[in-house]
Amino acid sequence: MLADLARQLEKLDADGLTRRPPTLQAPCGPVATIDGRTLISFASNDYLGLANDPAVIDAAIDGARHWGVGAGASALVSGHFAPHAELERRLAEFVGYPRALFFSTGYLANIGIVPTLVGRGDAVFADRLNHASLIDAVQLSRADSHRYPHGDLAALERLLVSRPARRRLILTDAVFSMDGDVAPLPELLDLAERYDAWLVIDDAHGFGVLGHQGRGSLDHCCLKKSPRIVYMGTLGKAAGVSGAFVAAEATVIDWLLQRARSHIFTTASPPLLANALLAALDLIAEGESRRMHLAGLRAQLRSGLADTRWRLLPSPTAIQPVLVGDNHEVVAVAAALAERGLWVPAIRPPTVPAGQARLRVSLSAAHATAHVSQLVDALRALD
Ligand SMILES: *Cc1c(COP(=O)(O)O)cnc(C)c1O
Repeated sequence: MLADLARQLEKLDADGLTRRPPTLQAPCGPVATIDGRTLISFASNDYLGLANDPAVIDAAIDGARHWGVGAGASALVSGHFAPHAELERRLAEFVGYPRALFFSTGYLANIGIVPTLVGRGDAVFADRLNHASLIDAVQLSRADSHRYPHGDLAALERLLVSRPARRRLILTDAVFSMDGDVAPLPELLDLAERYDAWLVIDDAHGFGVLGHQGRGSLDHCCLKKSPRIVYMGTLGKAAGVSGAFVAAEATVIDWLLQRARSHIFTTASPPLLANALLAALDLIAEGESRRMHLAGLRAQLRSGLADTRWRLLPSPTAIQPVLVGDNHEVVAVAAALAERGLWVPAIRPPTVPAGQARLRVSLSAAHATAHVSQLVDALRALD
C-alpha cells in the first residue's frame, strides 16, 4: 500500500495538484504572516472581518471564564448549555424560521440533514457544483442521486418529471463557493412546490453577507417562507467563529434532533463558541457599514480588471474568482502574486472541474481599499 500511495502522490505532483497547508503565524485578517513573510491575504472566508474582532474575542473569553472550555459530552447527553439554547433561538428568529439546531460545523450539518430526511428508495436532485459536503451527504443517505448541470432549471424539471420517489429533496448551495454566483432560489422553490419535493439550501457564503441585516440568501432573493425549505447556514465564514445551524419547521428540527447522527454522535461545540457567536450575530445584524464597504471593494476590483485579460466570473458576492484554466498556470500566477506580497489561493481540480483552475479572490470587510489596489496593480502588471 505504501508504494501505491507514493506512486499516486507522485502523479498528483506531476499534475500540479499537490496541496500543502501553509502555517500562519498571525490571526486571521487582511494581512497574513507565513514563514516570517507578510502577505495581503485574499484567502479567508472571514467576509465581515469578525474572526479577530475585539467584541467577539471578549465574548469568547467571557464564555470561557463562565462555561469553561469543553462541552463534556454530546448535546443530547449533557453538552447542551444555555448559550447553545440562546444561540439556536436567536438564529431561528434571525432567519425567520420556527426553530434551529446548532451543529459543530457545516460539513457535519450537511451530512446530518440529508440522510436524516431521505434514504433508500428516495431521490435527491443536486446541482453539479454543490459543495463536497452535500455530495458526501447524498452518498451517506443511500438515496438515488440525480445531478443537474449548474443552475439548469429545465434539466432539473425534466428529472423531477421522470424520477418519482417516496420523498424527494432538491439540494443546492445558495452561493456557490468556487464561483460566487447565487442559485435561482425562487425558481427552485417553485419547482419544489410543483413537483412535491423539499428544498435544502446551503447558505455557507450568503449568511451574514447577503440580505437585509445579513440575514442571508433567502432574504436576498425575497424568497417567500415555505415549510418545504430546510435552511443551513455556517458560522465559520462571515460569522467569524465556527459551527453551523439548520433552520426549518419545528417538526423537521425535532426529527433532526432525534436522528441526525453527526449531531448525536459528536461532542458538542464548546459553549464559549456559542457565546462568541451571540456577539458575532449582533455585529452581523448591525453590520450594514461592513457590507457596504465589502460591496465597494468588489466594485473596485471588478472595474480595476475590466480592461485586462483576467476573466472575473460574474459574481455578486465576496467570492471573486479569476478564471485561468490550466493547473500549472494558475499555480504560476499565484506564485507571481505571492512574490508581490499578495496571497490569492489557486483552486484546482478536484475542487473545480478539470480545465477550470482559477484564482479565488475572497474579499473581506477587513480589507482596506489600498489592499485591493495592490492586487489590481499586481494583476495588471502580470496581464
Ligand atoms: C464551507 C462550506 C461548508 C462547510 O462548512 P464548515 O463549517 O466549514 O464545515 C458547507 N457548504 C459550503 C457551500 C461551504 O462553502
